[in-house]
Amino acid sequence: MTQLSAQFQFGALRIAALSDGVGGQHPNDWFPGVPAADWMPVVAATDATALLPVNFGSFLIRGGGRTVLIDTGNGNRLHGQHTGAAGLLDRIAALGVQPSEVDTVLLTHFHGDHVGWNVENDGGPITFSNATYYLSEVDAAYLANPATPATPGNDFSRSRINPLLEAGRLETFDGEFAPLEGMTMVPTPGHTPGHCSVLIESQGERLFVVGDAAPSVAHLEHPEWSPVFDLDVPRASESRRALADRAIRDQALLTGGHFPILTVGRLHEASPGYRWEPVEVEQISED
Ligand SMILES: [Zn+2]
Repeated sequence: MTQLSAQFQFGALRIAALSDGVGGQHPNDWFPGVPAADWMPVVAATDATALLPVNFGSFLIRGGGRTVLIDTGNGNRLHGQHTGAAGLLDRIAALGVQPSEVDTVLLTHFHGDHVGWNVENDGGPITFSNATYYLSEVDAAYLANPATPATPGNDFSRSRINPLLEAGRLETFDGEFAPLEGMTMVPTPGHTPGHCSVLIESQGERLFVVGDAAPSVAHLEHPEWSPVFDLDVPRASESRRALADRAIRDQALLTGGHFPILTVGRLHEASPGYRWEPVEVEQISED
């Protein structure tokens, strides 16, 4: 059974990993140019052409009177196309949370699988009607630049971000920035020019939500493996390395929106790259 929702306690916070669907990714998209003999054992694959599961995940974080959502999935566009698709709002509702109760939405980057539910459909209305949305200025400027290609993906992202701009609901920021106490947007550029990971801190514990700095644990273990979706491959690899080094230094846990629910772990230095150690977090149910 594909898990679409899980919740755990993290310091004083309750963190729910919520899926907007689980699809399949061709290994060539994730590991272009990497010999199958290298990546297959890392992801425990037995067939070099079988699709790898890819979660389209968000994180809902509650505590200290705040309700924060990291990324907003694919939205309605993949409805019916894979397991649990277009179900993010149902999974939030299952926690007893109304969209209007979300006060902050942190967007790791502008790609369509992370901004889909910003608005309910083309042209709005804004889904999280009382929330302030945050996106890096670099990503916002890239998307707004007329020189940025009008691909279907970029057009979809614009349809999910422009209504926020028009309503004055999108805040942008430069560099490392903490929109809230204990939640910091950490630039990890390369996947997109302004991509950020989110550092969550509570009661001395640290957790990085890596966004698409790494679509899978394998990419954290091997920072030089860049998926085809990285716009700037050398920069993305450099960001993965910097993120891994910082997580090790800070004794931080890591998780990611595209990792299967619930994947939490820590990294250790290895040769080459890094080694992932899964960490069992105690799951809690809604009471
Ligand atoms: Zn993504």
